[in-house]
Amino acid sequence: MQMKEYIKNIIETAENCAKDTFKKVEDTAYFNQKKVLKAFQKHKISLRHFAQTTGYGYGDEGRDTLNKLFADVFDCESALVSPHLLSGTHALSVALFGVLRPNDLLLSITGKPYDTLDEVIKGADGSLADFGVNYHCIDLLEGHIDEKAVVEYITKNKTRMIFITRSRGYSMRNALSIAEIKSLTEKVKKVDSSICIMVDNCYGEFMDIIEPTTVGVDLMAGSLNKNPGGGIVPTGGYVCGTTEYVNKVAGRLTAPSVGAEIGSNVFGYQYYYQGLFQAPHVTLQATKGSILFAYALTAMGYETVPKPEERCDDIIRSVKFNTEIELTSFIQAIQTASPVDSFLSLEAWDMPGYTNKVIMAAGCFVEGASIELSADAPIKEPYIAYLQGGLTYEHCKAALEICIEAITK
Ligand SMILES: *Cc1c(COP(=O)(O)O)cnc(C)c1O
Repeated sequence: MQMKEYIKNIIETAENCAKDTFKKVEDTAYFNQKKVLKAFQKHKISLRHFAQTTGYGYGDEGRDTLNKLFADVFDCESALVSPHLLSGTHALSVALFGVLRPNDLLLSITGKPYDTLDEVIKGADGSLADFGVNYHCIDLLEGHIDEKAVVEYITKNKTRMIFITRSRGYSMRNALSIAEIKSLTEKVKKVDSSICIMVDNCYGEFMDIIEPTTVGVDLMAGSLNKNPGGGIVPTGGYVCGTTEYVNKVAGRLTAPSVGAEIGSNVFGYQYYYQGLFQAPHVTLQATKGSILFAYALTAMGYETVPKPEERCDDIIRSVKFNTEIELTSFIQAIQTASPVDSFLSLEAWDMPGYTNKVIMAAGCFVEGASIELSADAPIKEPYIAYLQGGLTYEHCKAALEICIEAITK
C-alpha cells in the first residue's frame, strides 16, 4: 500500500493546482442538488412511488411521477424515463423513429453522430434510411457548430430535425456548451420554427446548471448508465422535451394507442428516484476525478482535452498517449484499479457498432456503466484514451496512482 514518492508528489501537486477548478464544479453540483431536491418536494415523493408494478402498468404512479420529476429537473414539459429504454442508443433511436417520417430530412450538425447510431441512420435493415428518411451531415468547424453553414443549408433544404451530439464521442474535441446550443437554437428557430432540434445529451447531464432543454431544444435523450442514473440505476434511458414530441416517442416505444400509459417495473422505482437524487453529486465525483487526472497527466507531459483548468461540458477526458503500449497500459491500469473484475487482463476486440478494434476497461457494478470509472480507446493513431466516470473522487485518486505507475514503468 506504500505509495512511491514520485507518484505521491505528482498527485499532491495536481490536487493543489486543482483547487480553484474544483470549486467551480462543486458550485454547479450544489446548485443542481438543490434543484433536484426542490423537484422531489414539489412532487411530494413518498415511499409509495418506489413500489413494484406488474402487467400493463396502467396508472403506475411511480412511473408517471418519475417522468414528471425528470421533466422538472430538465426544465421541459414532458419526459419518458424507463427501464424499457435499454441504453442510450436505444433511447436515441426510439426518439429518432418517433419523430421522423418517410422523406423527412435529418440533419446532423456536429459531424457524424455517435458510432452506434451509424446503423440506426444508414444501416441496411430497419434503419431510418430503410424507412425512407434522408440524412445529411455538417461537420464542426474547429470544434464548434458551423452556424453559417447550418443556416444556409436549412434555408435551401426543408429539414425536419437537427441533431446535435453534445459530448465528444470518439474525437479529440470538447463537448458543446449550453451557450453554443442556445445560440444555434435561436438562429434555427428564426429560419424555421417547425424544425425539431434534438440533442444527444449522453454524459452532459448536470455538467451545467441548465440543460439543453432549458434553452429551447425540443427533444433530448440519454442513458441512465451515465450521469442521470447516479451510479445506481440498474438499467434504462430517458427522452424528454416538449409534450408533442415526447408523446410521439412514447407511441414508438410502446404502441401508438397506449403511449406512456403502459409499462410496469417489477423491480420498482427506488433506484430511479435515488439515482436522480444522487446524480448531481456522482457527476461531481466523476468530474473532480477527471480534473485530477488532467492536472497530473498534463504535468507528466501528456495532452488532455479539456485542458485541466478548462470548463467541462461532459464527464469525458481525452488523453493523448505516445504509443500503443502506453495507451493499453493506461486502460489496463483502470481495469486493475476497479472494484469489480480487477483481475482481468484486457484485449482489444471488434465491438459491434464500432469501426476500429476497441479496448475497454469497465470494472463496474452495473454492466458497462460509464458513470463508474471506466476508460476505452479505439486502437488507432493518434493514441487517445477516453476516460470517464468514478462513483467517488477517492476511487479516481486511487486509480490515478495505479495509472501513473503503469505508464512510467
Ligand atoms: C454512450 C453514448 C451513446 C450511447 O449510449 P449507450 O448507452 O452506450 O448505448 C450515445 N451518444 C453518446 C455521445 C454517448 O456518449
